[in-house]
Amino acid sequence: MEVDAAAAVADWLQEAKKIVVLTGAEISQEAGVPDFSDPRLNPHIRDFRENQNIRKEYWKKLSEVYPQVSNIEPGPSHRALSELEMLVNLDCIFTQATDGLHLRAGSTTVIELNSSMLWVTCTSCGKDYPLNEILSIVENGTEVPICTECGSDQIKPPVSFPGQPLPHWEAREAWIRLHNADMFLIAGASLEHEPIASYPFLAKENDAKVVIISEKQSPADDFVDAVIYGAPGQVLTYILSKMKEGITIT
Ligand SMILES: [Zn+2]
Repeated sequence: MEVDAAAAVADWLQEAKKIVVLTGAEISQEAGVPDFSDPRLNPHIRDFRENQNIRKEYWKKLSEVYPQVSNIEPGPSHRALSELEMLVNLDCIFTQATDGLHLRAGSTTVIELNSSMLWVTCTSCGKDYPLNEILSIVENGTEVPICTECGSDQIKPPVSFPGQPLPHWEAREAWIRLHNADMFLIAGASLEHEPIASYPFLAKENDAKVVIISEKQSPADDFVDAVIYGAPGQVLTYILSKMKEGITIT
């Protein structure tokens, strides 16, 4: 970790009037959340709609994985960002994760860009179900659960599968909040795909300070104010400790 860069970021965070944070899979994995990019858990929407075997596989795999997810506690990044909210002008956290861990860590304004895997929606009639309820039906032997309201077997968590756009309200809200931000902190997120790939550039156009913390390189790294390569939980915890010490870079 670059200690000087982390101290500079601590300084910027204290000065900023409106900070928007983006997080993603790296911080979920730090907490022990399994990788949801497994094709059985992330099928193309066309295959899910048209192929009953794909739906069977999806529910089988989700019922295997979910019990692990439901017992996971927020990780170091979730805890650090929740604490950060009390120290700086944090407007909101938007996240690519679907696990609800920011909310469990106590962060108050969280926009889930890919929605949430903790509930299930009928794509025919719109009825919502808690995920637990649907998985208990699967565990009792129903391979493809159906909507009790309308009988459709096209029910799924509202998360975006490949081939589906981001949920409209969430993407729009993120865009608006980013327009008004003077600092954009990106921690453990993926910047590979649109529209999120454009977010750092949008923030730069608005003269916001943009910081990326990640183990991985991204296409935006050369265009932002600071990049800190390292485990986001470790870096954020360090930044927080610098802020508490009151150390600033002049
Ligand atoms: Zn229905």
